[in-house]
Amino acid sequence: MNKIKFISNRKPFIIAGPCSAESKEQLFTTAKAISQHIDLFRVGIWKPRTSPDSFQGLGNKALKWIKELKNQIQIPIATEVANAGHVESCLKSNVDVIWLGARTTVNPFYVQEIAEALRGVDIPVLIKNPIHPELSLWIGAIERLRKVGINNLAAIHRGFFTLEKSAFRNEPKWEIPIKLKKECPDLPLLCDPSHISGNIDMIQEVSQTALDLDMDGLMIETHFKPSVALSDADQQITPTQLLELKKSLVLRKTTALNKDFNNKLYELRKLIDQIDEKLVKIIGNRVSLVKEIGAYKKKNKVTILQIKRWFEIFNTRQKMGVNYNVDPQYVAEIFELIHKHSILTQTELMKKSND
Ligand code: PEP
Ligand code: MN
Repeated sequence: MNKIKFISNRKPFIIAGPCSAESKEQLFTTAKAISQHIDLFRVGIWKPRTSPDSFQGLGNKALKWIKELKNQIQIPIATEVANAGHVESCLKSNVDVIWLGARTTVNPFYVQEIAEALRGVDIPVLIKNPIHPELSLWIGAIERLRKVGINNLAAIHRGFFTLEKSAFRNEPKWEIPIKLKKECPDLPLLCDPSHISGNIDMIQEVSQTALDLDMDGLMIETHFKPSVALSDADQQITPTQLLELKKSLVLRKTTALNKDFNNKLYELRKLIDQIDEKLVKIIGNRVSLVKEIGAYKKKNKVTILQIKRWFEIFNTRQKMGVNYNVDPQYVAEIFELIHKHSILTQTELMKKSND
């Protein structure tokens, strides 16, 4: 089963199945309804729930059903492990693929314990991002598994916890999986739109975005009757909805062989290159002024942060954004970054001894 390839030629690798195994009937009915349309069947049996009063999964009882299910469907089966004991039980039951959930990736002790239990074992492992947006923890978990000899690895982007008000259950923060791709270009990267969305309405849109960002596949929670699901009921889709979702996805190529397309792209990119050069030059001019102001503040023993001035910049620049057709939120983020660096620049200047 280690021949499973998470990267295939422009065809997204589809993982689907229920959040949790709840009964033999639920597990088998869901699996049989979708197995011919997907590449890997997922099912949780030890559930890392926030509250001890929530459904915790059926554990070893469900593992026996998985063993039986393996004879009835033609595709491999994956489940989540959160400690060495889970790994041992899965290996005994011939589970084909295991994954580390967000609450496990976040803890290097658990990741290491799981890695040790997998030393010398030939099994594909999927690693979800940690709960909070810390790329180095995600990469650390990947490295811990690589170091014990697990070669067939893939990462799963399932979004990040945020205290900010959000339409998503877990904020996608797409820049983080993009950075992971930059750091680990050969590592397959899949997306879990179910845990990002938290409801079924956004799954299509999130899935399409993931594919447009050149991700290699999707993990979609699917239940034969989501309304009675014991965990994550709001985000699970039915087998019929899964097929509709698959049909709706537009598969785009990473490049077009067409000459006109490439010429046009080349022309437009040349324009972007010119604008970027102007942008950087202008930022350089601004930095010079920031330094001049910093020296002047220093001479006059005036604080770096001038809160009224900062509010003024923050508000007026966003209004400029509206006038020039740039999303004010985008402008706000740019100016937060610019202001942060201005403060750093002036702090450095203040630290220098007077000559
Ligand atoms: C799950 O896949 O059911 C799960 C618990 O996911 P996550 O670790 O992404 O919360
Ligand atoms: Mn779930």
